[in-house]
Amino acid sequence: MSAGRHDRPEDLMRPEVLAQPAYAVADATGLLKLDAMENPWPWPGELEAAWLEALSEPELNRYPDAAARDLAARVRAVEAVPEGAGLMFGNGSDELIQILIQAVAGSGRPVIAPEPGFVMYGVLARALGVPFRGVSLRPDFALDLDALLAAIREEQPAIVFLAHPNNPTGRLEDPATVQAVIEANPGITVVDEAYAPFAGHSFMPQAGGTAGLLVMRTVSKLGLAGTRLGYLAAEPAWIDALDRLRLPYNINTLTQRSVRFALDHRDVLDGQARAIVAERERLLQALEALAGVTSVVPSQANFVLFRVGEGQGAAVFAGLRERGVLIKDVGRAHPLLADHLRVTVGRPEDNDRFLEALEAALARR
Ligand SMILES: *Cc1c(COP(=O)(O)O)cnc(C)c1O
Repeated sequence: MSAGRHDRPEDLMRPEVLAQPAYAVADATGLLKLDAMENPWPWPGELEAAWLEALSEPELNRYPDAAARDLAARVRAVEAVPEGAGLMFGNGSDELIQILIQAVAGSGRPVIAPEPGFVMYGVLARALGVPFRGVSLRPDFALDLDALLAAIREEQPAIVFLAHPNNPTGRLEDPATVQAVIEANPGITVVDEAYAPFAGHSFMPQAGGTAGLLVMRTVSKLGLAGTRLGYLAAEPAWIDALDRLRLPYNINTLTQRSVRFALDHRDVLDGQARAIVAERERLLQALEALAGVTSVVPSQANFVLFRVGEGQGAAVFAGLRERGVLIKDVGRAHPLLADHLRVTVGRPEDNDRFLEALEAALARR
């Protein structure tokens, strides 16, 4: 067969998709991994044994429960999803973001999100051919409500995504500000609560009862990133409509069983989350006190965003890596993020090691 007979990717795929690099995940082999907002603690040994027991006779020859009924009942009970709200699962909340944007593709109306923010909103909008507009945060990373409301008036968006708290800043917006966006937006407002386990406020009590509000959560940051499970709670009319775009059996049997089991032991995960919050406060103070760190953003999540001297972000990141510590260099993601680094809160000994390595990396500048 002659090679010339078939189209090449650039003949069939849109340029903006081809221009978008594949999602890059850093190789953490041999490094202290503080880059991806994972819960650093393993389960106690007896819990792991009980989990393996719960996974026995998995019937892997059968398709999973398509509606994940047992899991849904458990999530509703443990996560306090309001009775009147519909509930839908995704293979991580990333898949829910994909379904949401797919649902409005063709409406001619764009997706809006504050920037810097979670990158997948823009990535998936581009992938699905939906116009995306980022609205810049203020220099202190607070939501620019006036600019967002103006963008909403001009664009009449199909979806506004608001991460609450935001990633990569860790900031939790005043709930009244978020409420103002929900009310002004003619489309739907997706409040992305990926960091709810570490934050002081949630819109979940309003899910299903506030028109235009969809509340999205994930179990990833709580300590179950390997299972890939996100969920969306909203008015049943929206959940029923979105469910038409969900792939059959998107939540596999092992995930359904594992998360059900883990939620039965939510006290263990909650204890770990409390320890992460305590360590976050210690880390915030230690970073504030460190010469060479020029600003630290108050965080309601399980990570901290901080800034180093002008032009030094990449070098400090590399210095940490040389010392065996992997964090995230977000310095090139947005102009407001120049020289900013994001570190995930680890166990006390991890954070000590990070702080020592950071001090050494800064001293060498
Ligand atoms: C990590 C993260 C997600 C993705 O969560 P998954 O369920 O692991 O896909 C979604 N939104 C925000 C803001 C995040 O930081």
